[in-house]
Amino acid sequence: MKDAKDFLNGYLASLIHKRGISSQFVLSFEDFYKNGFNDPLSEENFTKKKGLIHRYPDRVVLTVTNRCFAYCRFCFRKKNWQDFEGFDLDGAVEYIDRHKTIREVLISGGDPLTLSDEGLKRILSKLNSIKHIRFLRIGTRVFSSNPSKINKNFTDMLKNYKPIWIAAHINHPDEITNDFKKAVSCVLNAGIPVISQSVLLKGINDNVKILEKLFCKLVEVGVKPYYLFGCDYALANGVFRVPIEQALDIMNRLRGKISGLCVPTFAFDLQEGGGKVVIEPDRIVKRKGRVYIIRNFEGKEFEYIDV
Ligand SMILES: *Cc1c(COP(=O)(O)O)cnc(C)c1O
Repeated sequence: MKDAKDFLNGYLASLIHKRGISSQFVLSFEDFYKNGFNDPLSEENFTKKKGLIHRYPDRVVLTVTNRCFAYCRFCFRKKNWQDFEGFDLDGAVEYIDRHKTIREVLISGGDPLTLSDEGLKRILSKLNSIKHIRFLRIGTRVFSSNPSKINKNFTDMLKNYKPIWIAAHINHPDEITNDFKKAVSCVLNAGIPVISQSVLLKGINDNVKILEKLFCKLVEVGVKPYYLFGCDYALANGVFRVPIEQALDIMNRLRGKISGLCVPTFAFDLQEGGGKVVIEPDRIVKRKGRVYIIRNFEGKEFEYIDV
């Protein structure tokens, strides 16, 4: 019989008895049903150099690898698992250099932390030398999938560059282990802020109780919940998608229940490259001139007099 160790790294395999872990990484027959889009965000249309995606005026994404410690069942870049052609660092630097509106580079993948420290240093130094780049962001799943990668050596290395923000992908409170907390502390102690991004996933975290636990625990360990994403309709992702209406209901309940610090922004990416959109629960019931009728988190309606 196949063991968890045959398809997961040692760290994730050691947590496989937790439902919040197995449901994200252990394949089921549904994963072979090829519904969904190959490139749900149409990133190909915004790729300016190999690996460089420029969708918004002030920031770019640089996908530096297709390797990952995790390989989530609901990955939105599954096409890269097979098709990734590498990235053109010199071309990307040259492109960014020519586009002065770009202020931020988001280093993504795959998981950029699968690179060697030397490999990551090479990328950071080149980006660091571009004057109009003011800060960097690294998107990673490492805290949940291989936390021992983070140590003082590594975080000391990160201090040599322009301000870095780390965006940690996490979807379930079962991922917040002692090793997770240690890795986060190590990054925070280096003065590097950590924010989270999660995906709303049917059967995994699509209820208020689990998300409340996830977001409040994150704040407790110093991570600011940043985005809760609708699940992109990528290959084989149909089974994980939660209707927008249900997502908004969950967001409304969270808003009324937990600290604002713990509430992320709900967003999803439009298909065909429309970009990210933020959708909030409906608040405005009606408007008559300066007077709005607004629905609060309890569903009660109040009059609000505008300027
Ligand atoms: C998500 C994304 C970003 C970052 O968006 P933020 O709202 O700043 O987090 C940048 N570029 C692309 C192509 C993206 O998909």
